[in-house]
Amino acid sequence: MSVPEPAGGEEAKQAKEAEDAEKFSFMATVTKAPKKQIQFADDMQEFSKFPTKTGRRSLSRSISQSSTDSYSSAASYTDSSDDEVSPREKQQTNSKGSSNFCVKNIKQAEFGRREIEIAEQDMSALISLRKRAQGEKPLAGAKIVGCTHITAQTAVLIETLCALGAQCRWSACNIYSTQNEVAAALAEAGVAVFAWKGESEDDFWWCIDRCVNVEGWQANMILDDGGDLTHWVYKKYPNIFKKIRGIVEESVTGVHRLYQLSKAGKLCVPAMNVNDSVTKQKFDNLYCCRESILDGLKRTTDVMFGGKQVVVCGYGEVGKGCCAALKALGAIVYVTEIDPICALQACMDGFRVVKLSEVIRQVDVVITCTGNKNVVTREHLDRMKNSCIVCNMGHSNTEIDVTSLRTPELTWERVRSQVDHVIWPDGKRVVLLAEGRLLNLSCSTVPTFVLSITATTQALALIELYNAPEGRYKQDVYLLPKKMDEYVASLHLPSFDAHLTELTDDQAKYLGLNKNGPFKPNYYRY
Ligand code: NAD
Repeated sequence: MSVPEPAGGEEAKQAKEAEDAEKFSFMATVTKAPKKQIQFADDMQEFSKFPTKTGRRSLSRSISQSSTDSYSSAASYTDSSDDEVSPREKQQTNSKGSSNFCVKNIKQAEFGRREIEIAEQDMSALISLRKRAQGEKPLAGAKIVGCTHITAQTAVLIETLCALGAQCRWSACNIYSTQNEVAAALAEAGVAVFAWKGESEDDFWWCIDRCVNVEGWQANMILDDGGDLTHWVYKKYPNIFKKIRGIVEESVTGVHRLYQLSKAGKLCVPAMNVNDSVTKQKFDNLYCCRESILDGLKRTTDVMFGGKQVVVCGYGEVGKGCCAALKALGAIVYVTEIDPICALQACMDGFRVVKLSEVIRQVDVVITCTGNKNVVTREHLDRMKNSCIVCNMGHSNTEIDVTSLRTPELTWERVRSQVDHVIWPDGKRVVLLAEGRLLNLSCSTVPTFVLSITATTQALALIELYNAPEGRYKQDVYLLPKKMDEYVASLHLPSFDAHLTELTDDQAKYLGLNKNGPFKPNYYRY
């Protein structure tokens, strides 16, 4: 059975895309790669997939789960506990006399600058985008209000946006994830940043408010991670949307909120769903987790994986990454799945697919990666063997029923930062990591290179929305055009000295493709 073609056929569609690309001057300029020119097409795809059950969240909650996910142990090299005075109480100025920021300690700026420079070394694609486009300043006049993790890697993104002409005001999307020294370096460089590690919930919203509610300055673009900033603007300053040209949203949660708004007819500006870009989902979720799962487990437990029995719940992108890493170290890996397709993939990749109850007594490590809730229940926890390590790689802390462990007969012992021993009356101990929150973001750092891919996608989404002629995007949620995804990937290839093969005219005709892409139809799954 053949796969149905989109209306008009792939060939016709791609011919139109090539024609559209010509009209889009900035993108055509940016995409002038030295060896291979990739032009962008005005290939807008309304994303028709609605939120999954697991992703649906209420807009009425006061703070997102991601905002409270701990990120603390490894994320920042400077601690907030060294100083009891709230940054809100402090009078600080940078070396140019500006006090248009609120960070833990501006004196840490030099240290933070070194952190940013280290990150830049593995974000060469983003830096190359910065260099290629800074002459043209495609974000000149853009006033971007952002709410993301404030780390060395996001600092490289923020400084790229500034180099492309934008003015930025920034707060943190997570109360624990800010690298204080990096926030200080940004403030020293003139970015209006309001964030520190260990904010209270009140501080969190205060920081967002300081970015949005400014006399004489009004944002015209939003870059959000988790949807809290967008939610705040909707709730408090809906008039601002009159000037906003678009929202770029990175997270699963934030994207679901945007679809909810769109479905309710309340989305009043175009929004770009970066989360579902191929260059985000297939790289951040898979490769990031493939590298950081081991980092998080090693830093917290010093466990050796060779010969250990591990069960990974969920064989989606994150689960696949975790399984591959564990298998490579000689672990015996079991998989649980609800979806027969993913289960079959696991089988073909050489993993035993089991029910959790079948292996729970024998495994040394349990890892959840489902995005679901109550995957590991109290009953499972009761049956685990002594010293079993339990952790979660999914977005929220609902996958392991941690609440069920807060009962009087069980003793909790904090043995290291983010490591708890939960002790049963007979002396059995279960090692619970990060209290069931995202292991890699709580207990390790994530690879800079992967963040470069996501950050480049975010930067391009902002450029696209900001420069789009009126009418190109309506008040809806869009996926990045495929050609931009391909462009983001192409920018990262030189890091590996990878050499792309170019289609001959004859081959392009045979496949019905434009020689400059896009190379795959939108339904292609990679
Ligand atoms: P996905 O949808 O590709 O995979 C999840 C898999 O879990 C699916 O195959 C689904 O069938 C399976 N599943 C659902 N309920 C199950 C159950 N009860 N038992 C067994 N399997 C079950 O999603 P993904 O991209 O792999 O992301 C998974 C989670 O990880 C999400 O919450 C996502 O937000 C998060 N995430 C984490 C990171 C990180 O750095 N830790 C990065 C990206 C995404």
